[in-house]
Amino acid sequence: MENTIVAISTAAGNGGIGIIRLSGNKSFEIINKIFIPKNKNNKIKGYSLKYGNIINPENNEIIDEVLVSYFVGPNSYTREDMCEINTHGGMIVERKILYLCLNNGAELAEPGEFTKRAFLNGRIDLAQAESIINLINSKSDKEAKESIKELEGDLSKKINEIEQKIIDVMVNIEVIVDYPEYDVEEITNKDALNKMNEVSKMLDNLEKSFDKGKLIRDGIKTVILGKPNAGKSSLLNAILNEDRAIVSDIKGTTRDSIEEFINIDGLSLKIIDTAGIRDTNNEIEKIGVEKSKKLANESDLIIAIFDLSRNFEDEDKEIMDIIKNKNAIIVLNKVDIKQNNKLLENELNKLCKPTIKISAMDKSGLDKLYDKIIEVFSLNELYNDNEILITNERHKNQIKKAKENINQAIISIKDNMPIDISSIHIKQALEDLGEITGKNVSEDIINEIFSKFCLGK
Ligand code: GDP
Repeated sequence: MENTIVAISTAAGNGGIGIIRLSGNKSFEIINKIFIPKNKNNKIKGYSLKYGNIINPENNEIIDEVLVSYFVGPNSYTREDMCEINTHGGMIVERKILYLCLNNGAELAEPGEFTKRAFLNGRIDLAQAESIINLINSKSDKEAKESIKELEGDLSKKINEIEQKIIDVMVNIEVIVDYPEYDVEEITNKDALNKMNEVSKMLDNLEKSFDKGKLIRDGIKTVILGKPNAGKSSLLNAILNEDRAIVSDIKGTTRDSIEEFINIDGLSLKIIDTAGIRDTNNEIEKIGVEKSKKLANESDLIIAIFDLSRNFEDEDKEIMDIIKNKNAIIVLNKVDIKQNNKLLENELNKLCKPTIKISAMDKSGLDKLYDKIIEVFSLNELYNDNEILITNERHKNQIKKAKENINQAIISIKDNMPIDISSIHIKQALEDLGEITGKNVSEDIINEIFSKFCLGK
């Protein structure tokens, strides 16, 4: 790129250190104007650090004592010459240094522009660039791991492998189009069909992996259901206060529910807490089943809590109906004052759902609940490090488009349509996949992707 960009890369506010980053062919020229190293040896070496003062060259005022790291392109994040100024941190100093860079020939970077340059200069592909945003925004261990896998290029490799298979088919088809006098059509068609079925299956698997990826990315949407006084709030409080479940975030407060993120052994649960409803008992009665049904239908997991100390009632029956066909764990609460409630237990047994007994009040049995959650989501399967999971909606949509084009091509070959028709679909599938890694992608899409980055990344 022609211009040299600069940005404050650390989060705003007071911190232990602050980093101002420069990238572009004037990086070293600019740093030479505003930085006086203690060691006067001015030779610039890549991957090296120099200690000294940032000064205002107009009046020699010392702005801060800093460390400057040097990266000589192409061995840098952007592949360009880069410098990172490590300051003592703090808004004023960081801003002063930023302005010094701007006054001495740098331009303010746009959000994500460093990473965009890494992409445009060919160091990483588009899928890898997007994984960097995912990594930064990760809410769980597992999500961070998936992002790192994408950053390392696992998804890109898989896409390239599929593209190669499609190109093989293309080559065969071109033979038919170019040399119609040879009688190769029949054999080639059979071969092409086999290969394309294989490709279609691979794309289908990748597309389906998005649902799993979504659980990892967005958290398992969990709803706690139970009749009034069964112990829903007590259970939620017990979970939120317990060591094993790290409460990572509280967000998305809507009119009548709060989403609380908790992390259990690296798995992220998004617990939809109907807190607004919880406060007023009358409201529960009013909204009751309808609201629960709606929440339950949208959830990935229901924790259905039943009160062992009370009789089996219609409300219990209603909850049983709601969870019948859903991913649910039955929690029998209040074992501490357990009365022999065989009718309830027998009825629940008929549902054949994983069932555990707890006392939300004593906080006993929570470990069993977590183990069950992990079992239900066959976490080992989620943790399969060899599998590639699609976590990005844009990628999923491109994969879906490519699959549909391949399926169209399969149909047209089976229907003995002119080979050019399937060739159009196959080429389109290649373009769809190319948009994932960015081989062919419009500038608008590139700009949209990088605008989601933070400044200085
Ligand atoms: P919710 O209406 O379902 O949210 O129920 P709460 O969590 O507010 O609990 C209702 C009542 O049951 C409260 O008085 C709790 O103290 C009590 N409770 C909840 N869990 C237990 C438990 O495990 N054992 C006993 N003995 N009481 C409990």
